[in-house]
Amino acid sequence: MHEMGIALQIIEIAKSAIPEALAGTPVEAVNLRVGKLTAIVPESLRFCFEIVSRDTPLEGAKLVVEEIPVVALCKGCGHSFTIDGPSFVCEKCQSGDLQILSGRELTVVSLEAAEEGPD
Ligand SMILES: [Zn+2]
Repeated sequence: MHEMGIALQIIEIAKSAIPEALAGTPVEAVNLRVGKLTAIVPESLRFCFEIVSRDTPLEGAKLVVEEIPVVALCKGCGHSFTIDGPSFVCEKCQSGDLQILSGRELTVVSLEAAEEGPD
């Protein structure tokens, strides 16, 4: 389950992204961009995150995962397309010489701090 290591990384990145003015404010949500090539299962990641975020400023934060499709550019014919299946060949010319344009992302896009409520 490589999601555990990734959850730890997210916590490190997110902690360093919390502005000083917001230190101590609970984080409500972490917005993530996750490429499909990372083979991360969002449910597993959420589960791991819940465990590793205990006793950190991120405890209780919700992970909002935006999945990024795998987009490849064929170096043979210049065609770019989205890869859905396991085959990495150009859908136009069947060349296997592809450049991956997206799908490897693992980015913390933003954090949402909880509003201090009256309760
Ligand atoms: Zn091609």
